[in-house]
Amino acid sequence: MPLADPRPILAAARAAGHGVGAFNTTLLEHAEAIVAGAEAARSPVVVQVSENAVRYHGGLRPIALATLALAESATVPVVVHLDHAEDVDLVHQAVDLGFTSVMFDGSRLPDDKNRATTRDVVAHCHAHGVAVEAELGEIGGKDGVHAPGVRTDPEEARRFWTDTGVDALAVAVGTSHAMADRTAVVDLDLVSAIAARLPAPLVLHGSSGVDDATLRKVVGRGMTKINIATHLNKVFTREVRARLEADPALLDARRYVAPAREAMAAEVERLIRLLGPEPAAVAP
Ligand SMILES: [Zn+2]
Repeated sequence: MPLADPRPILAAARAAGHGVGAFNTTLLEHAEAIVAGAEAARSPVVVQVSENAVRYHGGLRPIALATLALAESATVPVVVHLDHAEDVDLVHQAVDLGFTSVMFDGSRLPDDKNRATTRDVVAHCHAHGVAVEAELGEIGGKDGVHAPGVRTDPEEARRFWTDTGVDALAVAVGTSHAMADRTAVVDLDLVSAIAARLPAPLVLHGSSGVDDATLRKVVGRGMTKINIATHLNKVFTREVRARLEADPALLDARRYVAPAREAMAAEVERLIRLLGPEPAAVAP
């Protein structure tokens, strides 16, 4: 199946009150697990490569080409998305390689510079048929707008969207990145307030910190793209650790990575069903 444009997928999900799972890949096996999980759930999915993952591999091309090849051979629509790019050159590389979606993260820039750069990124990406997610940030620091105490103002969000023309907007409603426990307290009324003012799909970063019941509520209030990375790393690594501890003589990487890939695929499928239509309405 050709690579999917996220815009109709997110628009349909938003109209139906569903969420779309967006999961990060660092390893080839992560991408395989995400695609396998989406195929099992018979749902579209977003596979994300972050600027951090690019740094880890020393370049975008190898991880990108592998991920794009997997996406193209999937039996469900797959969006390949560049996550948290602060480097505009990296955005251009992703567009050249055939990504269908990018996130430009200018949240560390001064507000006017963030808006201007985001506008340039939108012009370039739209000219190439690529969707853009962005984040508005008046507050810097390590976690930017996703620090737990930070909140997006609905009116500000609307102005940013009008100013920049982005296709999706990351908002701060109580989550933060890389939470190992699912204990985040999400401001559900704020989600509703932003969704009421903004026609563009909203993106929840740091969703690893959000429990199942809250994820469903967040989606019901109008959040659409649900970014999950750390939670799936936990599932993957727990399985690797168990295999290695169970057999100290184990040498073949496939013997401990394959079960981890399977465990992650099962969790991806479960999460997609959780975010999608009520499980009873999902075809087996
Ligand atoms: Zn994020």
